[in-house]
Amino acid sequence: MKAVVCRSPGDLVIEDRATPGMPPPGWARVAVSHVGICGTDYHIFEGKHPFLAYPRVMGHEVSGTIVERGEGIDLSVGEAVIINPYLACGKCIACRHGKPNCCVKIEVLGVHRDGAMCDEILVPAQNLYPANGLSLADAAAVEFLAIGAHAVRRSLGAPGQRTLVIGAGPIGLGTAIFARIAGLDVSLLDMSAERLGFAETELGFASLDGSKASASDLVRQATAGEGFDLVFDATGNTRSVQSAFAHVAHGGTLVLVSVVKDDISFSDPEFHKREMTLVGSRNALRADFDHVAASIRNGAVPLNKLVTHRTTLAGTPRDLARWAHEKSGLIKAVIEVG
Ligand SMILES: [Zn+2]
Ligand SMILES: [Zn+2]
Repeated sequence: MKAVVCRSPGDLVIEDRATPGMPPPGWARVAVSHVGICGTDYHIFEGKHPFLAYPRVMGHEVSGTIVERGEGIDLSVGEAVIINPYLACGKCIACRHGKPNCCVKIEVLGVHRDGAMCDEILVPAQNLYPANGLSLADAAAVEFLAIGAHAVRRSLGAPGQRTLVIGAGPIGLGTAIFARIAGLDVSLLDMSAERLGFAETELGFASLDGSKASASDLVRQATAGEGFDLVFDATGNTRSVQSAFAHVAHGGTLVLVSVVKDDISFSDPEFHKREMTLVGSRNALRADFDHVAASIRNGAVPLNKLVTHRTTLAGTPRDLARWAHEKSGLIKAVIEVG
């Protein structure tokens, strides 16, 4: 079969690889249909990922169809599935507490082990969710949206609460969309007028343009000086995370959606006087995948606007390399494999 292999930073090629063999008990062989390209993939390609071992087949936003079943699996051959790419151990403290999204030994397809930018892949059946009528193209978008849906669920936000999402990339937009679905009153803050323009005109979000004024002034104006009840940071930027503390209202919550590689620091008096809640959010759970799939099915997610670029498996080495630096007009790119 064909696989897109990142041999080392900047070196992306198509290789012929052996098709995966008979799936072990509890696993299935899946023919890959669509793969979304993520910020993580660009980071791996550019050598910016903190702990990645090369060579690596990327790809963790995946849909496909079952082609062969290992023993003890309910799914049928030919069934369309959404792949949850977070392989969990099932035994650690997080898994025992129903949180496989933050398993101590988590292995993410396309990051810790080879992913889905190829024709076929083996996946544990517990990581395969029936698409239940979702198109295979839409099914590949469920994972990146589930990150935002999970963060919104972690926030425990209540309808009507003033909410700020910082960062208008795919993860921030997904967070904003699922915050709106939860009834929150959402504004987006970003440094890119182009991204904000898209969020405003195409998706209908209020926007705060950080390239025109200081974020603290914009927040003060938007909230009559009170701050936002909920603030989500989806920037992956250390300075943005640190300044986000000041945008939270007294009694409010800050949710860190994207991870930064540095330590973060904040003023404890400012944190304490607000009685602020600080929440980390990592990956997503099956309930989030189900919520996203249901929301796409009932038309609440404008996916046709979010998927802006398409390519094939053969075109991926060229196109992914280009999109790593040509970001204008790019929200989400998808590889059509099958
Ligand atoms: Zn992703
Ligand atoms: Zn575990």
